Amino acid sequence: MAIIITDECINCDACISECPNNAIYEPDTNWSYADGSALKGMVKTPKGLEVDANEEHDPISDEFFYIISDKCTECKGFHDKPQCASVCPVDCCIIDENHIETETELLAKKTWLHSEN
Ligand code: SF4
Ligand code: SF4
Repeated sequence: MAIIITDECINCDACISECPNNAIYEPDTNWSYADGSALKGMVKTPKGLEVDANEEHDPISDEFFYIISDKCTECKGFHDKPQCASVCPVDCCIIDENHIETETELLAKKTWLHSEN
């Protein structure tokens, strides 16, 4: 599964530097697959979508820090526990019930993000 940040976020900035996948973004900041990953040019996401990794996408939130689920591996392959949830002072990094994935899928996502393609 991926992690999601709820509207209880106090924008403290503690989580963003902890993410090994650059999946966390500041409010009102554009995101891309290429940020902090090995992805570049046209790539196929684990869900089978053809995307331009370098394309800048609109922010998901202009109020709170947010997580791109396609880039969140729940820290699998790097850490035993989700690092954002570990450091968050208000416990607002929680399981995203809309993005449930197996450990195998999460590890495949980690490989996808960090392998030259
Ligand atoms: Fe990043 Fe890990 Fe949090 Fe996912 S669980 S957003 S990979 S720090
Ligand atoms: Fe928001 Fe928690 Fe991240 Fe701080 S650590 S910015 S409160 S999600």
